[in-house]
Amino acid sequence: MGKKIPLTIQRMIDAGALFLSNDSGGKDSQAMRIYLQSIIPPSKLIIIHAHLPEVEWSGTIDFIKMNSKGHRVEVCQAIKTFFEMVEHRQMFPSKDYRQCTSDLKRGPLEKLGRALSAEYGNKLIVNCMGLRAQESKFRAGKRTVKKSKSNSVAGRTWIEWLPIHKWSEKKVFKTIADAGEKPFWTYAEGMKRKSCSFCIMGCQNDLRISARLRPDLFKKIVETEKRIGHTLMMPNKGQVLTLDQYIEMEVADV
Ligand code: SF4
Repeated sequence: MGKKIPLTIQRMIDAGALFLSNDSGGKDSQAMRIYLQSIIPPSKLIIIHAHLPEVEWSGTIDFIKMNSKGHRVEVCQAIKTFFEMVEHRQMFPSKDYRQCTSDLKRGPLEKLGRALSAEYGNKLIVNCMGLRAQESKFRAGKRTVKKSKSNSVAGRTWIEWLPIHKWSEKKVFKTIADAGEKPFWTYAEGMKRKSCSFCIMGCQNDLRISARLRPDLFKKIVETEKRIGHTLMMPNKGQVLTLDQYIEMEVADV
């Protein structure tokens, strides 16, 4: 496991910063957490998870806790659910308007991070996320280490760090296997990503598998799409396809 730690991060470790390992239960979070456990003192590392009721895969929280190796795990949840958000806007989130990420994940996780900073009396926070450059052009363009202006207030220094930004998928799976762990059960079902059960960023094949594994949720999404006249997936601008139509259409998977 490579241990080239950026200078800013090494300084934060030396100064006793609190490291927050954002964990969705997916392979990238898992590999990142394993890496962090190898370089951060145990008392300075907390695993945090944003729980999304109904749309999250069953067993996610138990899986994160099972692999935590004794590290503290904190779970937060937004006030509203995914479907309450959709009903309120009468729209599903989209790639251009990822309200699900900002309101259901990032917002509650940052609030939790600020609360943990206060609880530990530690004004140095490093928020770690398992995004990888290989996943998309957008993610490739992200800076590996960045100061968060909005969270670096009231004497607090808050650094955003992407510890496995340059890692390949192969390295991710190898790290998990070398640690004696297994990836979340949905990978064995053939899914590429472990996200919400039906993710707006999901490829067609993942969505097909989700429809098979979660027929009730699939039905609820299609019924909601028909009722509000807005859909989860919009393959081409102006083309309205409900999820059942989308997973049947011929599109090149990404
Ligand atoms: S996993 Fe997908 S659907 Fe769920 S919050 Fe993230 S982008 Fe939205």
